[in-house]
Amino acid sequence: MAKYLGPVCKLCRREGEKLFLKGEKCFTSQCPMERHPYPPGEHGRMARFGRRRESDYAKQLRAKQRARRIYGVLERQFRRYYKAALQRRGMTGLNLLQILESRLDNVVYRLGFARSRAEARLLVTHGHFTVNGRRVDVPSMLLRPGDVVGIRPESRRRSYFKNTLPEWAEKQTPPAWLNRDLNDFTGRVERMPERGEIDSNINEQLIVEYYSR
Ligand code: SF4
Repeated sequence: MAKYLGPVCKLCRREGEKLFLKGEKCFTSQCPMERHPYPPGEHGRMARFGRRRESDYAKQLRAKQRARRIYGVLERQFRRYYKAALQRRGMTGLNLLQILESRLDNVVYRLGFARSRAEARLLVTHGHFTVNGRRVDVPSMLLRPGDVVGIRPESRRRSYFKNTLPEWAEKQTPPAWLNRDLNDFTGRVERMPERGEIDSNINEQLIVEYYSR
């Protein structure tokens, strides 16, 4: 299972917006986007002053890269998701977003059971979560309506799940397509999200154009 191992804050600076990849740090003044709100690299400051004009291709590429980075998906897998979205009925762009949203690591994050998708991915990989009562360790698992995510009983005794998580989870409001129960820390996928419920700043039409070239 491959994943990006480089500096994640540079990804936000490259995209020119906060992608919220580091959990609590993203909400503090320590966030590099607060101090260096321009692309990384030698010529990054120049770009901040709008001296570069983006071609259509560059806009499509940026939209695709932004989505990949938000969900922490590498290129090959992202392309596979696009092909799967093409085969589904309906609008390809929305299908793609629904596939990304239904990943187990994203659902754990959206339920407020992790402070970032990267953290959710790590917790899932370490086997702390169950789906329909069965232990799982595959963050890319795609959930369907009716699936129930829970925390493994053995994991509940750990300090993260006893102390850190409840405090964090209480401050998070899950989207309407997920039904969370904070008493026993479970969450149920009620349905697939509608476009308006996916709050990430993603232009899926540009992604479709990128892959349709
Ligand atoms: Fe992005 Fe969070 Fe790093 Fe800020 S702290 S640059 S929002 S990952």
